[in-house]
Amino acid sequence: MTNATNDQVLGSDIERSLDRNDLIVVTGAGGFIAGSLARYFHDLGYTRIRAIDRKPLPEWYQRVPGVECLSMDLSHEANAIRAVEGATEVYNLAADMGGMGFIERFRVECLRSILVNTHLTEASYRAGVKRYFFSSSACAYNTDLQKSPDVIALKESDAYPAMAERGYGWEKLISEMFCQEYWAERGLETHIARFHNIYGPNGTWFGGREKAPAAMCRKVIEALDAGDMRIEIWGDGTQTRSFCYIDDCTYGIDRIMHSPDLIATPINLGSSELISINDLVSMVESIAGVTLERSYKLEAPKGVAGRNSDNTFIEAVLGWEPRTPLRDGMAATYAWIAEQFAARKAGKAVVEG
Ligand code: NAD
Repeated sequence: MTNATNDQVLGSDIERSLDRNDLIVVTGAGGFIAGSLARYFHDLGYTRIRAIDRKPLPEWYQRVPGVECLSMDLSHEANAIRAVEGATEVYNLAADMGGMGFIERFRVECLRSILVNTHLTEASYRAGVKRYFFSSSACAYNTDLQKSPDVIALKESDAYPAMAERGYGWEKLISEMFCQEYWAERGLETHIARFHNIYGPNGTWFGGREKAPAAMCRKVIEALDAGDMRIEIWGDGTQTRSFCYIDDCTYGIDRIMHSPDLIATPINLGSSELISINDLVSMVESIAGVTLERSYKLEAPKGVAGRNSDNTFIEAVLGWEPRTPLRDGMAATYAWIAEQFAARKAGKAVVEG
């Protein structure tokens, strides 16, 4: 399930002024997206990739053979300096984050991720890094525009006037501004993508930080396993979202980082296929071949009422937008979580995230 034609490695169509031996640094690489990004560049033939995360190495989702893996907390300046030493490109995806249950409850932790980007931009500038990528979020958008489930898709200019999601969203918005001003004042080439709900295999699926697609898959698998054919849904299920498959995300990051038209210019990286949480549950049920009795936990964190990605800008600049159909991506995600669930049940170690 990729954007590439059958015999093409995903991303081999992209032009980058990057030597095979240039050092690529990927932060947050013990996590979901950055772990997949390190693998993506490795599969493209880049030979020097430094992957960093504060989690101990055994807790990383993916450790790619041949990739230098370091366990370091990048909220400390000295570690940020060490992290980018000799780097040509830096991809900063390290952040303390999770689904709505996490970001509504742990705002201080979310805000403190500002330290990572602050130290990494300064260290990258001093180290003469050629390009710097920051992973922003749809949570940076003005929440006043997201109160109805009949959502208007969010375009890049909708971040201002600013009324971002408390905690997490504000951290993203101010980190974006750091990236923009490091370009304007100091000439560090920065690129910024606002991710909209990325999902897929090798991400958090239990433990409290998981997001809706993984949570739905796990709940259906648990119901089947226990023979208890019920499912609990957070909110009333009418809230709408779009979900972007991981392969589209890693490819999109590469496209955005290497577009001369997208320097210091935040851009949406998300799918425009809108779905309600109720319909997402139905989709997972149909993948699993079951129908469950639904109950709604109305007081649970559910985030904004509706949100979608307006892809007019990315289509115009890159002639591309994420295209993996949600059904296909969810089938792959369901299969991976079912595998993890079975492994955990068999007593094997699985990563919580
Ligand atoms: P993730 O939680 O799986 O990965 C983030 C990783 O960053 C974790 O492994 C964590 O240990 C690491 N980290 C946190 N603080 C650190 C620190 N001080 N030093 C070193 N490592 C640290 O999350 P993800 O889904 O892979 O998200 C990656 C990036 O994309 C984050 O910046 C996130 O805010 C952004 N984002 C993700 C989504 C999504 O849907 N997954 C949506 C919008 C934005």
